[in-house]
Amino acid sequence: MNLEGRTYVIMGVANKRSIAWGAARALDKMGAKLVFTILNERFRRELEKLLGELEGNHDIVVECDVQDDAQIESAFREIGEKTGGIDGLLHAIAFAGKDELQGGYSETSREGFKNALDISTYSLTVVAKHAKKIMNEGGSIVTMTYLGGERAMPNYNVMGVAKAALDASVRYLAYDLGEDGFRVNAVSAGPIRTLSSSAVGEFKSILKEIEERAPLRRNVDQLEVGNTVAFLLSDLASGITGEVVHVDSGYHIMA
Ligand code: NDP
Repeated sequence: MNLEGRTYVIMGVANKRSIAWGAARALDKMGAKLVFTILNERFRRELEKLLGELEGNHDIVVECDVQDDAQIESAFREIGEKTGGIDGLLHAIAFAGKDELQGGYSETSREGFKNALDISTYSLTVVAKHAKKIMNEGGSIVTMTYLGGERAMPNYNVMGVAKAALDASVRYLAYDLGEDGFRVNAVSAGPIRTLSSSAVGEFKSILKEIEERAPLRRNVDQLEVGNTVAFLLSDLASGITGEVVHVDSGYHIMA
C-alpha cells in the first residue's frame, strides 16, 4: 500500500513495544508522513531516538496531555499550521491505576474510575473535536480497543468499562463526523506485552489462553495490528466507519 503524500498523527508511543510504534513502522514503510504527540517533554528524547529507526524524516513532535483541554487545542492548532492538514490519526492511549487492574471490580475507586475513563475514553472525543478542524477530505480516525469491553474478563475491570464506552464513542463519533465525510473506527487488538498491559493482573495467562484456544493458535504482534490501523486510515477502507475490527488471531469468535 502506498501512502506517499499522506500525513497521519500518532498518539501513544511510549517505547518500542507500544502498539502505536507498530502502526508508525507500518505507516512509515508505506511512505506516509507522521506527526507524533507525547505526554510531556520528558518523553521527547526517547521518541526522537526511536524515530531514527524509521525510513522517513518525521520531525514534528508535539506535547499533548489528553487530560489538558487547552493543550489538546493548541497541539492540533500547531499540527495544522506545520502540516497544512492531516489525513487521519491514531489514538492509542489508555491508563488505569495498577490497583484497579486486579481483584474485584466492585473495589474500583471513584477517582480511579474517573481517571481511567477520562484518559482512555473521553480523550478520543475531545481529540476528534480538534482533529476534525485540520482534517483533509476523507480523513480517518482510529482508536485501540480490547475484547474486555465486550465481555467480562478477569482483572481488566475498569479498563473493560472504559473500552465499552470507547466502542460506543466510536459509533457516536462515526455518526457525528460522518456528515463531513470523516471516518472513525477501532482496532481490537489481541493481548500484546507492552508497558500498559504489564499492569493487568495475570497477563501471562491471557497470552497462554490465546495460544491454546484462538483459531490461529498464536498471539498477534504490534506490526500486524499496525498494518490494520494503516488499512483503516487509508482510502482502501473508504466505506468503513463505526466499526471494531478484531486483530486477535480470531479469539473473539470462540465461546
Ligand atoms: P503503551 O503503554 O505502550 O501506550 C499507552 C500510551 O498512552 C503511552 O504512550 C502513554 O504515554 C499514553 N498516555 C497515558 N496517559 C496519557 C495522557 N494523559 N496523555 C497522553 N498520553 C497518555 O501501551 P499499549 O501500546 O499497549 O496501549 C496502546 C492502546 O492499545 C491502549 O488504548 C490500550 O488499551 C490498547 N490495547 C492494548 C492491548 C495490549 O495487550 N497491549 C490490547 C488491546 C488494546 P506515556 O507512556 O508517555 O505515559
